[in-house]
Amino acid sequence: LTTRLPAVGTTVFTRMSSLAAEHGAVNLGQGFPDFACEPALVDMVTEAMRAGFNQYPPMTGAPVLRQAIVDKVAAVYGRQYDANTEITVTAGATQALTTAILCAVHPGDEVIVIEPAYDSYLPAIELAGGVPVPVQMELGQAGYAIPWDKVQAAVTARTRLIVINSPHNPTGSVLREADMRALADIVRGTGVLILSDEVYEHMVYDGQRHESVCRHAELAARAFVVSSFGKTYHVTGWKIGYVAAPAALTVEFRKVHQYNVFSVNTPMQHGIASYMADPKPYLQLPAFYQRKRDLFREGLRGSRFEPLPADGTYFQCVRYDAISGLPEAEFAEWLTTEIKVAAIPVSAFYRQGRESGIVRFCFAKKDDTLALALERLARI
Ligand code: PMP
Ligand code: GLN
Repeated sequence: LTTRLPAVGTTVFTRMSSLAAEHGAVNLGQGFPDFACEPALVDMVTEAMRAGFNQYPPMTGAPVLRQAIVDKVAAVYGRQYDANTEITVTAGATQALTTAILCAVHPGDEVIVIEPAYDSYLPAIELAGGVPVPVQMELGQAGYAIPWDKVQAAVTARTRLIVINSPHNPTGSVLREADMRALADIVRGTGVLILSDEVYEHMVYDGQRHESVCRHAELAARAFVVSSFGKTYHVTGWKIGYVAAPAALTVEFRKVHQYNVFSVNTPMQHGIASYMADPKPYLQLPAFYQRKRDLFREGLRGSRFEPLPADGTYFQCVRYDAISGLPEAEFAEWLTTEIKVAAIPVSAFYRQGRESGIVRFCFAKKDDTLALALERLARI
């Protein structure tokens, strides 16, 4: 078989989690919480199963969940989507992203991707026959930022889609209102669509607000906005998320979606819909994770790692040049096998494997887990 994806092997997350398990390392690599979700959420899913919600739901998602999503987006971002024509429940954000790319990108279309970039974007673009056009974020005193002049310069008559991700994995940077204005200036008067990966929408710290594309009418009118319940409700293994998009885009999205997965498991949709009636879980998330971020950053002061600004997500990037000159992948392996703390090399988020001497830690962990990791990191 001739491969469709010559540049692709096993994902860095799978590799680093296996290595961590093999060497008994504290796993701060792959992003997932090591603590339990709220028992009430499990109860609501169990109740849905007992109530008989166990057969295929509608292809587009259970109506109660689509309505709960509409209500939440309206309450938080002030945009009113239509539950029937503009919201589709997906098997995690990954499927939403891939499906959006497959429906929007025709062979030869160019897709602007901001690097470092989450690893699922490029293979999906390649499968669609699209041409990825990377634009790299720039690292300054305030952290990573998108150079919008370079994005503007990358737009051609063949540009079909711009993929953005805020809060951003892996850098933890967060787009501000000025970024959204810059993006709007670039796409205005063009046919360019936006794919906005907002899976960390409820993890923005220091009193800042998340600039969802949903807040900006001009952008929302041409955007697929993707989120994931796995991140917000501490259940990454449930693989359930959604895409919100104007009806004309949703029609095309669903054409692909119905043959990708057809529909997403029923009891979790009903359980999550019930759980969403209470906004507290997502309203309390920034404070919950900000405390962990601060704990982790404070702990790093006792080490030779230099933490970069971390305004959002549950990731903390660090420079390690005071410790080692190894390339990032080798350093992350050494850290995992010898120091017994797993991390993710940021180079894995660049198409050409660019080296910056930076690795990513995930702080979505119990305080005890973070303390153990910090104790080990302080020894080097
Ligand atoms: N986008 C980003 C930026 C992510 O970090 C993740 C999760 N690692 C996803 C998408 C995928 O989310 P899900 O697990 O819901 O497929
Ligand atoms: N999104 C998670 C991360 O960045 C990993 C998800 C995966 O393993 N594909 O760590």
